[in-house]
Amino acid sequence: MSESLNPFEVAVKQLDEAAKLANLDEGMRDILANPNRILTVAVPAKMDNGGIKVFTGFRSQHNSARGPYKGGIRYHPQVTVDEVKALSMWMTWKCAVANIPYGGGKGGIICNPKELSESELERITRRYAYAIADIIGPLTDIPAPDVYTGGREMGWIMDTYSALKGNYLQPDVITGKPVSIGGSLGRNEATGRGVSITVREAAKRLGVNLKGATVAIQGFGNAGQFAAVLLAEMGMKVIAVSDSKGSIHNPDVIDVESLRSHKLKRGTVVGFQGANPIDDSELLELDCTVLVPAALENQITRSNAGRIKARIVAEAANGPTTPDADDILFRNDVLVIPDILANGGGVTVSYFEWLQNLRREYWSEAEVNSRLDSNMSSAFNDVYNNHKKFSVNMRKASTLLAINRVVDAMKIRGLWP
Ligand code: NAD
Repeated sequence: MSESLNPFEVAVKQLDEAAKLANLDEGMRDILANPNRILTVAVPAKMDNGGIKVFTGFRSQHNSARGPYKGGIRYHPQVTVDEVKALSMWMTWKCAVANIPYGGGKGGIICNPKELSESELERITRRYAYAIADIIGPLTDIPAPDVYTGGREMGWIMDTYSALKGNYLQPDVITGKPVSIGGSLGRNEATGRGVSITVREAAKRLGVNLKGATVAIQGFGNAGQFAAVLLAEMGMKVIAVSDSKGSIHNPDVIDVESLRSHKLKRGTVVGFQGANPIDDSELLELDCTVLVPAALENQITRSNAGRIKARIVAEAANGPTTPDADDILFRNDVLVIPDILANGGGVTVSYFEWLQNLRREYWSEAEVNSRLDSNMSSAFNDVYNNHKKFSVNMRKASTLLAINRVVDAMKIRGLWP
């Protein structure tokens, strides 16, 4: 099902489409088509067997017109410089759509964390942090977790950076930290919560009643599980869920909390008593009101987009829909809430974490959630208004909104010298 596309080519194509709509001049377009800086670093590390292995790491800083670069660090054998560049551009758009004062960045190390011990991972992480230390910082570039990195790696990076830069604690250099070292309450649930808020707003605008409406969710990790919990809390019926091991379906309803306990015990949704197994490809094409892709890229393609029956597709995952599929869904009147809008809850609460760190203060979970709700609702409605005004799909509408915000900041600041 998955189509292999160069992510940076896709990102530039999306930029070009939106640039045309925005009547952007060529010079501005060229600035945005290239990251401001791409750093490639060698990451030599002592391995447990006594040998040395050299890994390659990247940090791409796309644009900082609206504020410091912001974006995660991923560990994966398939990390490429083009992937990191594309993701950094999408972060610029995501932060601008969410209307938080950040630009876009992204980092990665080519490695397979599943084949590394914890102490190897710590040495690799600290060496990478050392290698990028001069270009990151609380007011310049604030990394965060991404694929196969989490609070543990963020703690090591914070510690290494603090040791290198004066040896006092600098929690504001990185977000996605465990709460005990300055992480924010509500960060864990933030992406799923943000997805559920955008679905609620979409339903209001489309006149869809979510009480008793159905939802299918591809992927049951951090984003998928909390989206499931929160959509069920809104009165929706979760009828299908999948993970990397398989898919399950119950046309009546799947009890989300029982499924979460099952997944915790068995490591998969497969074998859950309250549902039947179905093919992975069937899940995406089920008759349901909302479809939440929350796993991988390139899942909805030109080969299956025509069979999607959902009224709303809320992209918890990054890049689950290919450009061809976007056009088909738009023609079929399926409202796609694009990744840079739908999953912006994570970076928004990262921003709240950073604010709390800068001020060395802590907010209650209720305060975090209520601020997230108001930010995400405004972001959704800003994009939806653009979608209506220009009669374009929600992805083009959000990229257009983002570009206008970024270009506005660039024009006001002017080009130095
Ligand atoms: P995760 O690792 O916690 O969960 C991923 C889930 O996808 C797992 O349940 C895994 O089994 C499942 N999966 C893998 N291959 C699959 C397949 N072929 N079919 C169905 N399911 C499959 O990751 P996550 O943090 O939930 O991230 C999921 C997506 O959301 C990614 O695209 C990520 O970039 C995006 N995202 C996450 C956050 C966040 O804060 N967690 C923020 C923004 C975007």
